[in-house]
Amino acid sequence: MAGPLPLSLLPDTAEVLASGSLAVGGLEVTQLAEEFGTPLFVYDEQHLRNRCRESVSAWGEGVAYASKAFLCKAMARLAHEEGMMIDIATGGELFVTLESGVPAKRLIFHGNNKTNAEIQTAIEVGVAAIVVDSFDEIDRIDALVAAGSRVPNVMVRITPGVKAETHKYVQTGQDDSKFGFTVSTGDALAAIERVQAATSMNLVGVHAHIGSQVFRKESFQQAAAVMAQFVAPFRLQEFSVGGGLGVPYVEGETAPTITEWAEAVITECRSRGMLANISAEPGRSIVATAGMTLYSVGTIKDLPDIREYIAVDGGFGDNPRPVLYGSGYEAFLPRSVAAERPRQATVVGMHCESSDQIVPDAWLPYDVAIGDILATPVTGAYGHAMGSNYNKVLRPAVVFVMEGKARLVIRRETLEDLVRADL
Ligand SMILES: *Cc1c(COP(=O)(O)O)cnc(C)c1O
Repeated sequence: MAGPLPLSLLPDTAEVLASGSLAVGGLEVTQLAEEFGTPLFVYDEQHLRNRCRESVSAWGEGVAYASKAFLCKAMARLAHEEGMMIDIATGGELFVTLESGVPAKRLIFHGNNKTNAEIQTAIEVGVAAIVVDSFDEIDRIDALVAAGSRVPNVMVRITPGVKAETHKYVQTGQDDSKFGFTVSTGDALAAIERVQAATSMNLVGVHAHIGSQVFRKESFQQAAAVMAQFVAPFRLQEFSVGGGLGVPYVEGETAPTITEWAEAVITECRSRGMLANISAEPGRSIVATAGMTLYSVGTIKDLPDIREYIAVDGGFGDNPRPVLYGSGYEAFLPRSVAAERPRQATVVGMHCESSDQIVPDAWLPYDVAIGDILATPVTGAYGHAMGSNYNKVLRPAVVFVMEGKARLVIRRETLEDLVRADL
């Protein structure tokens, strides 16, 4: 038995209408499902803008939105309009961001295995900085610049040796990591010295990213402390602590706000004498809670004394996080968002695999029925972004809602899209 959905898991403009139905951005959610079909990603645009503004005021000008959490042209433009830089990690993310009209000088280019072509494009278009991740990459930049490219600004990605308390798959700051130059092995120091001595690149700062979905400020403070000590001998303009701030997905979880996160890191750095400009790259904490996914209930299978399965028209193709990380979600009915949820069921998708569970232990109102719109909140990060066409399922549409208006920012895929690259 679970109580009503905690409203704190819903976007900023969520309101319960007199009918008991949920509205976001001034629009009734069940109406959006009717108009745009399901599955549907709905984002509260005001919520996105609020989080971008909070980031800029907490961290300052250099703060970047980590686009891999959710990227489309509208999202890149929105983050740019609100004053954020944008962190990209592949040629694909670079392409989409440039297509959106965001200038290259607002982009930070990451990646642990950038190709020559990616590095060359990044240098040619003039990204703000390339975050170098390996000695091989330093060699590649050297060679490209020797061949006539202009000299790029670079940051050095440092692995501070901090194990963030989060899922193993999203820990990136421990020594045993594919990312960055490790402090404890001496690689970090060697990398800084090489980059500083090189005429093919201009060192602007250092970067560390300890992982994702991290709830404890202390993990970031630990990384900040290592970094402050490490950079002390060098006069560097910039230190970025990366992203990784966690968000609550289910009842009972709590996370620091973006402002609290920034204050904790900045205070730690300053107290250890760091002079550099301090920045960050939030992804999840900008977009996760802004988004929710709407599905239609298609089939209900009751196995007395075993389990009830409620099958919806999506699945791990639009949200692989439950399968990938065992992530938990809540489920609710937007038509009666404040209803008690006494009915236990496993919400599954329509893919041909038993692992295709969206919410293994969901609690729902007693009267959930075929044809209902069922929603999962907090799906704005790493949902659409990590989606796939497995089973040749069409990727859902994405709408932004604000002040009573809905705009389609990614259209639903069509059957034709499935054979576009197929020769
Ligand atoms: C993934 C990533 C981020 C964003 O992480 P979130 O957990 O979404 O905030 C920021 N910087 C780098 C280098 C990353 O790889």
